[in-house]
Amino acid sequence: MERVMLAENLEISRFVHGYWRLNDWNLGKDQCLNLIKETLAMGITTFDHADIYGSYTCEKLFGETLKLEPGLRKEIEIITKCGIVLKSPNRPLNNGHHYNTSKSHIIKSAEISLKNFGTDYIDLLLIHRPDPFMDPHEVAEAFSDLKKSGKVRNFGVSNFLPHQYQMLQSYMDEKLITNQVEISAWNLENMENGVLDFALEKRIKPMAWSPLGGGYIFKSNEEKALRLRKTLEEIKMELGAKKIDQVMYAWLLSHPGGIIPIIGSGNLGRVELACESIDYKLTRAQWFRIYDASRGREVD
Ligand code: NAP
Repeated sequence: MERVMLAENLEISRFVHGYWRLNDWNLGKDQCLNLIKETLAMGITTFDHADIYGSYTCEKLFGETLKLEPGLRKEIEIITKCGIVLKSPNRPLNNGHHYNTSKSHIIKSAEISLKNFGTDYIDLLLIHRPDPFMDPHEVAEAFSDLKKSGKVRNFGVSNFLPHQYQMLQSYMDEKLITNQVEISAWNLENMENGVLDFALEKRIKPMAWSPLGGGYIFKSNEEKALRLRKTLEEIKMELGAKKIDQVMYAWLLSHPGGIIPIIGSGNLGRVELACESIDYKLTRAQWFRIYDASRGREVD
């Protein structure tokens, strides 16, 4: 599998595997280990987490799985996030759902993540969402301390608009290396609101969450889904692809912005299909047929 340089000290796989839905997959540690090894065999070495996934449980299950084969840690890159506080029986002291990007919260959250993963470094830590109460001095200090201590090697953000990204960057010595945002043939918002243009301008490779629209597109009977499925099916036939999932991934991969899709499926067959989609190259005309089908009208 192709590799992507996000920073001098961080190279990741062209596809990332996302563990948000880990609890839905109902895996024991042995099955989780099998999933990690099988995805590694496909060339996916990068795993996306967040402190809050599975109501604060997913990082720990992943970490306990890694403990079964400690050698795996040096073969993989771990991304995790912080900054959202959720009410959870697993965090009885949390006082309501809010954002917290204070220095103390970021450092504490990263330290808990390290413990959960059973590792002494995180490859990439993201601020999960822009925080309207953010003090950028504090974020910069937290990142600087975590970097100096070697606990976190790189930093980025998620769901940030260009002005929010620039504002935070202006307080930091370290370069923010990515913005993880929702992008798919189903959801064009970040393609149309300047987020992708900004990433291109700054030479930042964005990561695309929900690259299949969270799976909604496969089940929905709303007009947009029907229209998009029809076009994806037509292009699937033209490319000789197996599933429309592959056309959706190929649509993201063909974009000049170097978009890195985060696969959200726990089904190995579907992960394999995703990896194969690298082989399908869309023509410009095919790319625009999907874009138009999503928008419901041709470009002007
Ligand atoms: P997604 O790939 O768009 O959606 C995955 C869902 O689609 C799963 O429930 C999957 O079910 C289903 N699916 C996939 N192929 C299907 C098919 N052919 N037919 C029917 N259902 C199908 O990705 P996502 O899970 O929403 O997001 C991916 C990752 O992005 C997450 O794991 C997380 O790491 C990250 N994320 C980040 C943010 C953020 O704010 N930064 C937000 C959301 C997600 P199966 O498992 O059964 O295949």
